[in-house]
Amino acid sequence: MMQAVYLNGHGGNEVVQIGQRPRPTRQSGEVLLRMKAATLNQVDLYMRNSGAGITHTLPQIMGLDGAGVVHEIDASETRLKVGDAVLVHPGVSCGRCEFCLRGEGVLCPAIAYLGEHRDGTLSEWVSVKASNVFAKPAHLSFEQAAVLGVTHLTAWRMLFTKAQLKPWETILVFGIGGGVSLAALQLAKLTGAKVIVTSRDDDKLARAQQLGADGIINSTTQDVVKSVMALTDGRGVDVVIENVGQAVWSSAMKSLVRGGRLVTCGATTGDQPPADLRRIFIRQLQIFGSTLGDLHEMTDLLAFCNRTQLVPVIDTTYLLAQTHAALDKLSSGEQFGKLVITL
Ligand SMILES: [Zn+2]
Repeated sequence: MMQAVYLNGHGGNEVVQIGQRPRPTRQSGEVLLRMKAATLNQVDLYMRNSGAGITHTLPQIMGLDGAGVVHEIDASETRLKVGDAVLVHPGVSCGRCEFCLRGEGVLCPAIAYLGEHRDGTLSEWVSVKASNVFAKPAHLSFEQAAVLGVTHLTAWRMLFTKAQLKPWETILVFGIGGGVSLAALQLAKLTGAKVIVTSRDDDKLARAQQLGADGIINSTTQDVVKSVMALTDGRGVDVVIENVGQAVWSSAMKSLVRGGRLVTCGATTGDQPPADLRRIFIRQLQIFGSTLGDLHEMTDLLAFCNRTQLVPVIDTTYLLAQTHAALDKLSSGEQFGKLVITL
């Protein structure tokens, strides 16, 4: 048996159990990891609250990303060895469908996410396909490395695969403080792009500025579109990164320069904003949907982190026994950076 955080129902924190679950048995082709840290993501709240539309069976261990140490592995494995410090990519795809064969495993219809479709990372032991395990950047702690597998990977795909961000361009990131938004700020700044961020909280804006944000907009007290135009000499931004949805959609569209690109990976305030089709075709805007990232994007992200020495932003680190408090903090939206659970 092992200690884990698992769901035995759907609802509030009362369905989140901290206790004993059977230790996984490693299958051929898998790596058994002794986990050291995992982080909370919005999807953990979704799984706790309803999990609707996601095939899973209860009880199920929570958590998508994580970092740990290789404990057991196939003798034939050449890329990893026992004792390696590693982090986990949370999506296990089939490897055989048309999407997997063209290197887009993240589009695989059979993809199984840890913590969504199968037992997750908030546990002492995890067994997962070897191709989902990557060497931890040496300059990062397990807590910091655990962050990369969801938020930075998601931001990476949005910025570089979807929006094709260039170093001389300007991006607008809505809702700074959340994991993906902060990752987008960090990644875009390290490539040289100019970054404008929004928040309803002046403290978060000040902290974003310390992390290099070139422009800050308080979306409660300022008109976002007017402020964007003032910060870009009336031009607008090349790229918008957003996961807020309906509440910011109209401002997001109006903040884009002609030919600009908007990438969305979430809709926490609603998913049915007006499409504004005339604006889309006349100004030739591009809109991309994006979720997580592929294994090859993980490889690129880690090379980037090693080169730039990027360090993810952590708000608070909790013990496993404090997971309920960590979930409450995540629901509050007050955090600036990731909430990490040590294992
Ligand atoms: Zn597949």
